[in-house]
Amino acid sequence: MQPKALILFGPPGSGKGTQAKLLRERLQVPHISTGDMLRERIASGDHLGVQVQELMQAGRLVPDEIVNQLVADRTSQADCATGFILDGYPRTLQQAEVLAVQLRQQGFQPVVIHLKVDYTKIIARIAGRRQCPVCGALYSLTSNPPQRPDHCDLEGARLVIRDDDKEFVIRERLEAYDRQTRPLLDYFAASGDPFHELDGSDGTPQEVLASVCSVLNLE
Ligand code: AMP
Repeated sequence: MQPKALILFGPPGSGKGTQAKLLRERLQVPHISTGDMLRERIASGDHLGVQVQELMQAGRLVPDEIVNQLVADRTSQADCATGFILDGYPRTLQQAEVLAVQLRQQGFQPVVIHLKVDYTKIIARIAGRRQCPVCGALYSLTSNPPQRPDHCDLEGARLVIRDDDKEFVIRERLEAYDRQTRPLLDYFAASGDPFHELDGSDGTPQEVLASVCSVLNLE
């Protein structure tokens, strides 16, 4: 069977990152988050990090060539040979087209999962989101709080609010999604590749995972 490139698609705050982490455990394939990769580069202070920092803090997308290159480099590593999960990529038509060619050449079957969530829920959800600065674990003050307030269950580090999770930046990110990313839904629907839509609004992460596994025909 062809290895799968699972594309988790949806607005910021729709639960892509959470589902990607759960699916990684389940499927034992890498989770590739362009947002995480870019944040790592900012934290390391290298040239690329400096280049993208302002755009990210403003809630805008970084240039296609940068993310296309990051993903092409990552997916050609040996641990991706049996498949991988993409979270937050592609986000523009140009990215989707580059990815389609790349997946075809590398022999991966794209499978898109669209997590649908309405925007008022997203704003509330992102406003309560906290992240461990050491391991990247995500918490929600409402649905998945840490055991000790404000501290990571795994690392003990003090949790932080991501710079781009501030409310005015969230609105900017949702606008970028509407303008540049949402139109990809038509592209995916017309591509002929498997394309599934799920309601990500309600239910615990485990319940949403069960729906994802069910459309993917996983036990
Ligand atoms: P995320 O963690 O996926 O919500 O991404 C956080 C930020 O990283 C986005 O608001 C963008 O500034 C940038 N970013 C992540 N993935 C992409 C992408 N595929 N294309 C352009 N910018 C991206």
